[in-house]
Amino acid sequence: MKSITSHANPVVKKIKSLAQKKYRDEYGLFLVEGERDVRGMLDAGWEVETLAFTCHPERSEGSRVPPPEILRYAQDDNAIEVMPGIMQRMTGRDNAQDVLGVFRHKWHDLPKKDGVFIALDGVRDPGNLGTVIRTADAAGARGVILIGNTCDPWSPECIRATMGSIARVPLMRADASGFIAWKKSWPGRVIGTHLKGAEDYRRLSYAPPLAIVMGSEQSGLSPDIAAACDQLARIPMVGGAESLNLAVSAGIMLYEAVRGKI
Ligand code: SAM
Repeated sequence: MKSITSHANPVVKKIKSLAQKKYRDEYGLFLVEGERDVRGMLDAGWEVETLAFTCHPERSEGSRVPPPEILRYAQDDNAIEVMPGIMQRMTGRDNAQDVLGVFRHKWHDLPKKDGVFIALDGVRDPGNLGTVIRTADAAGARGVILIGNTCDPWSPECIRATMGSIARVPLMRADASGFIAWKKSWPGRVIGTHLKGAEDYRRLSYAPPLAIVMGSEQSGLSPDIAAACDQLARIPMVGGAESLNLAVSAGIMLYEAVRGKI
């Protein structure tokens, strides 16, 4: 493991640059912070570019060693040890965690098999996207499909909001026409969620294969995607709220889809 002491080191600068989308896209990399989440990524077989550990020389010998479960993935050329100030700089956080992993983006093909999937049409808020990925993991969904122009799933805000579930939930993507073309060849059904949906979500069948489609925070389901859905479901609201939060409604739908099965 190399020890890095300079803020100007190219590895430090590269990791710091991953806060910006243009560099995440250019390098195809993203950050995962914290021992638990980094270990989850490694155990799930993600390819790691760099592992960074904070060095605490003031601590006793035993508590200084990086966690053994992660250390076994560290080789001379992919592991670095840095002082707390450098970890703060790399993560942009005053309270940076002691373990950081740099991983490669991974996209999967659109589904061909059985299971429940959730699709998000133009999701904008990385916190919502991360929460949906986390909920999909909890409910046993087989993946999250990003439709059209969405926020970046590899942003630190989204990755943090997944609380480690990014390690286990396959991500797929398509533009609107690609999603509609895929839908025609897929044997499953597609249920869209819409404020003006004709069906009460409690009255639908959720037999897999199934994709549940959520609209964007601002404008809901785009007309083309809504028209491609087999059914449009509405979650009844009795108060004065105009709509439910995207991630909350995704949670309601996902748990309805797996009710009695988990
Ligand atoms: N102004 C948007 C609209 O007109 O659709 C509100 C979008 S809402 C914040 C985000 C997404 O959550 C919606 O597109 C839909 O997928 C889902 N959603 C929210 N409330 C819902 C409800 N009561 N019934 C069905 N879906 C809902």
